[in-house]
Amino acid sequence: MNIYPEFEVVRNDSRCIRCRVCERQCANEVHWYDEDGKVMLSDESKCVNCQRCVTLCPTRALKIVKSDCRLRENANYSDQTIKEIYRQAETGGVLLSSMGNPNPLPVYWDRILINASQVTNPPIDPLREPMETKVFLGKKPGTVTRRPDGSLDTALPPQLTLSMPVMFSAMSYGSISYNAHASLARAATELGICYNTGEGGLHEDFYKYGPNTIVQVASGRFGVHKDYLEAGAAIEIKMGQGAKPGIGGHLPGTKAVGDVSKTRMIPEGSDAISPAPHHDIYSIEDLRQLVYSLKEATQYRLPVIVKVAAVHNIAAIASGIARSGADIIAIDGFRGGTGAAPTRIRDNVGIPIELALAAVDRRLRDEGIRNNVSIVCGGSIRSASDVVKAIALGADACYIATAACLAMGCHLCRSCHTGKCNWGIATQRPDLVKRLNPDIGSQRLINLMNAWRHEIKELMGGMGINSIEALRGNRLMLRGVGLTEKELEILGISHAGE
Ligand code: SF4
Ligand code: SF4
Repeated sequence: MNIYPEFEVVRNDSRCIRCRVCERQCANEVHWYDEDGKVMLSDESKCVNCQRCVTLCPTRALKIVKSDCRLRENANYSDQTIKEIYRQAETGGVLLSSMGNPNPLPVYWDRILINASQVTNPPIDPLREPMETKVFLGKKPGTVTRRPDGSLDTALPPQLTLSMPVMFSAMSYGSISYNAHASLARAATELGICYNTGEGGLHEDFYKYGPNTIVQVASGRFGVHKDYLEAGAAIEIKMGQGAKPGIGGHLPGTKAVGDVSKTRMIPEGSDAISPAPHHDIYSIEDLRQLVYSLKEATQYRLPVIVKVAAVHNIAAIASGIARSGADIIAIDGFRGGTGAAPTRIRDNVGIPIELALAAVDRRLRDEGIRNNVSIVCGGSIRSASDVVKAIALGADACYIATAACLAMGCHLCRSCHTGKCNWGIATQRPDLVKRLNPDIGSQRLINLMNAWRHEIKELMGGMGINSIEALRGNRLMLRGVGLTEKELEILGISHAGE
């Protein structure tokens, strides 16, 4: 069945100089030059609205607009729903998509407001007074003793030290390009934070960024070996991912080429499928075995992170993880990005990170084990104010991935799973990969993080708070607007005006 295209290419013919830049830049082959008519033409059915042609057209002759051609209005069956049924009736396949859940479900960050000091508790000027954004992730001892000379007597568990409470979340080499990984690794090193290998192993060129690298161990164990584990600053066990809780990962064979297959330690062209469960983990005791195996393999030098998706009983799960010996829990909300996920899973499974985070922080405090573990939250952290709200809700730090991709040039066209990212990020095609210059990519990431660091300081200064440590779990600094009693109760905050 011929489905009317979702987007229309609007070309201003009087401005078009037939330079054919759009034709050369589009990996989806939307544009072509008609020699006979001496005009540029388009096949809109292939357009994903990545905006590459619009951005690079030298005469601003192009515009991509959402088509207003709709099926007959129906409050139950939306245009999108009907088209998806058509597509599945044709292919018999699972619908695939990428990036995070785009549905209009509540974004609690936007319904939470931050306090500011007035009169009695004066604000702090971050330009003139010291403001501490450094954080240490890992177990904190109950008491600390010092020797007579003042030096620390207590042996501290391994800590991950970050110059600010933000890290680049897991994106595997394979799902994203070599140049995207290079940009993230370089930026993390320059900033004094960490990036995360994801489940694809660590390319040999990136071992030098080890002190700023989190190495991930997922159910497929791709690219996992002793040198890999020892190369990082922390090890992350991936139990789940916010964009696709309850299912494994899948890198199509077409992307498992060259260095990607070598790094993953799989044959070239074979599908890299990580199973939904870790086949050696069916209980917290099993998880504990893996946590301690990884610690043993790295001489107890590195903190171990356990990453889970935010799901219904997340507080109980986190309590178990905190008792498994893990040093850090990473919780990934349902809006978290992905290189590829079944659409139904992405859009219908999991819960918002805000509620999950608040529930976990409260549970661990109630059980008296909050300091046994640090909490990292991710899944659509979009700005410095989201970071500040997350810290006040109980996080020690945040993971960002979609925002990092945007900084590198992503236009959120949600077609990463096709491997034809026109911005050189979610692709392995050499002609596309080279479009992302790691010098520029890393500089843009550094700029973004420096901008957020300034904003975090300003927001903290406004509250009269001068360190992330003093902000963590400080829910008195938050108020809700337009939220129900139940939502406020779960978030543990008062309504604005109270
Ligand atoms: S890039 Fe712009 S000016 Fe060049 S052919 Fe395409 S529409 Fe015309
Ligand atoms: S990474 Fe590339 S393919 Fe994926 S959403 Fe961004 S621009 Fe589109």
